[in-house]
Amino acid sequence: MKLNDGHRIPQLGLGVYQTPADETAEIVRYAAKAGYQSVDTATIYRNEAGVGEGLADYPDVYVTTKLWNDDQGYDAALRAFDKSIKLLKRETLDLYLIHWPAPKKGLYVESWKALIRLKKEGRVRSIGVSNFTEENLTRIIDETGEKPVLNQVELHPSFQQKPLRAFHEKHDIRTESWSPLGQGGGLSDPILMEIARKHGKSAAQVVIRWHLQSGLIVIPKSATPKRIDENIDVYDFNLDDEDIAKIAGLDRADGRLGPNPDTADF
Ligand code: NAD
Repeated sequence: MKLNDGHRIPQLGLGVYQTPADETAEIVRYAAKAGYQSVDTATIYRNEAGVGEGLADYPDVYVTTKLWNDDQGYDAALRAFDKSIKLLKRETLDLYLIHWPAPKKGLYVESWKALIRLKKEGRVRSIGVSNFTEENLTRIIDETGEKPVLNQVELHPSFQQKPLRAFHEKHDIRTESWSPLGQGGGLSDPILMEIARKHGKSAAQVVIRWHLQSGLIVIPKSATPKRIDENIDVYDFNLDDEDIAKIAGLDRADGRLGPNPDTADF
C-alpha cells in the first residue's frame, strides 16, 4: 500500500508480540520463507534481536519497530532508536512508530520530533504512531507539520474503530490493525464460522481477508508454522457484500480488548 510519504508497505505482515525471544529468529525465518513480506515488532516485545537474526538473509522483508513509553522524549528516543536498529541488524529501518501516546508523560510531541529527525537523516524510511487518538494526531500534526504515515490501533470485527478510520482517511493516514484476530477469542463466532464454511476457509482467514478488503494493514500473530501458513493463504477468495455486511454487524462499542490509550497508565 502506498503511504503519504511516497513509500510503500506490505498490506499483510507477521506480528511477534509474545513470541518468545529464543524462538523468534526461527519463526520469522519460517514466515519469510512462507512468503511474508513484513514483520511487526517493538522494543517492549524484547525480541528485536531475534527478528534481526531471522531476517538476516531476507533484507527485503519490511520491518516495523516501536519506541517504548519509557524512552519517550527527544534525546531518549534517539538513543532508543540506535539500540533497536543495532538489534535488528539493519542499516535503515522501514517504519518506526511511537508505541503509545502516554499522555500523562506529556512527551509524545518531543518524541515525534525525534522521529522526524531520524527520517530526515535517512535512518528510517517512514515514521508513524500507534494507539493515537484524534486529539493526539491533531497535536503532532499541528505542532510539527509532519503527518504520520499510519496509526496502528486495536481493530478487529468486534471493535472496528469506524470514527477513527474516517479521521485517518480524511488526513491520508493509513490504518494498521493490531490484534486483528481479536487475539483469537472471537474466531468461534457463529457468523464468522458460517462465512468461513461458505468459502471453504477458516474463520481466521475470513477475518484477515476482511481487513485486506477493508483497506487496512494487518499483522496477525502466530508462532505456529501451520497457522503462519494459514494466515497468508488468503488470496484465493473474496468476501462478497453480504459477508461484509454481516461482519459490519459484529462491531460493538465495548469490544475493546486492550488498554484505552486515553487512560492507559504505563
Ligand atoms: P491477534 O489478533 O493477531 O491474535 C493472535 C492469536 O490468535 C494467536 O496467539 C493465536 O492464539 C490465535 N491465532 C492466530 N492465528 C490463528 C489461526 N489461523 N487460527 C486460529 N487461531 C489463530 O493478536 P495480537 O498478537 O495481540 O496482535 C497481532 C500483532 O499486533 C502483535 O503480534 C503485535 O505485533 C501487534 N500489536 C500491537 C499493539 C500495539 O499497541 N501497537 C498491541 C498488541 C498487538
